[in-house]
Amino acid sequence: MRVRKKPWAAQYIKDHSDLIVTEPESQLGHWQERFPSRQPIQVEIGIGKGQFIIEMARQNPEINFLGIEIQESVIATALRKLVESELPNVQLVETDGAFVDTLFAEGEIDKLYLNFSDPWPKKRHAKRRLTSPNFLTHYQKVLKEDGRIQFKTDNRGLFEYSLTSFNNFGMVFDEVWLDLHNSEGNEGNVQTEYEEKFSAKGPIYKLVAHFDSNPA
Ligand code: SAH
Repeated sequence: MRVRKKPWAAQYIKDHSDLIVTEPESQLGHWQERFPSRQPIQVEIGIGKGQFIIEMARQNPEINFLGIEIQESVIATALRKLVESELPNVQLVETDGAFVDTLFAEGEIDKLYLNFSDPWPKKRHAKRRLTSPNFLTHYQKVLKEDGRIQFKTDNRGLFEYSLTSFNNFGMVFDEVWLDLHNSEGNEGNVQTEYEEKFSAKGPIYKLVAHFDSNPA
């Protein structure tokens, strides 16, 4: 997602330090203290403008949501929506999801969402894909045993890559949908901004998977 730099973003973020963390390493092991109630933590990496995580939080008040986004101008827009929503169970984190393993204690995360992640189509950029083996190693560490990863995309190439990547990692698939919006998997689906925009142009792919705790 490319957006113009927003001159107001940096100050707005500073002014809302109760809702957004910009030095996340300092929160290691203390994430629960940022929420009014101790509840399971679910994380989205690459939240964009935040539509998905904010709607998820509205529908699931018994869960604490953490939204990670690397671009200041993008997360500032999500923050504005969050402020308007007045939801107590979302916190935002401005950082690179590549370091997710340094932000959380082992098993601290209940579920991880990746929505319409950048496809990085060139082979030499494969390591940057959020579903590449390096990232999976980090996710495995911070996800609780049996914790799920949910991934949605409109990009067929990235979906194919991710299926292979997860499979080679020994992960177990709970759900695979090749045309989410025209399947029963769509029930209760919460749409992201990209999903609304791109579903007119072709199918939406989705998978849910977990790490195998008892590999044969
Ligand atoms: N999830 C949103 C946005 C998808 S675009 C939606 O579905 O509408 C992908 C987003 O991921 C962009 O906003 C981009 O800045 C962010 N992103 C890409 N790599 C990231 C990383 N390593 N860590 C955190 N965010 C990342």
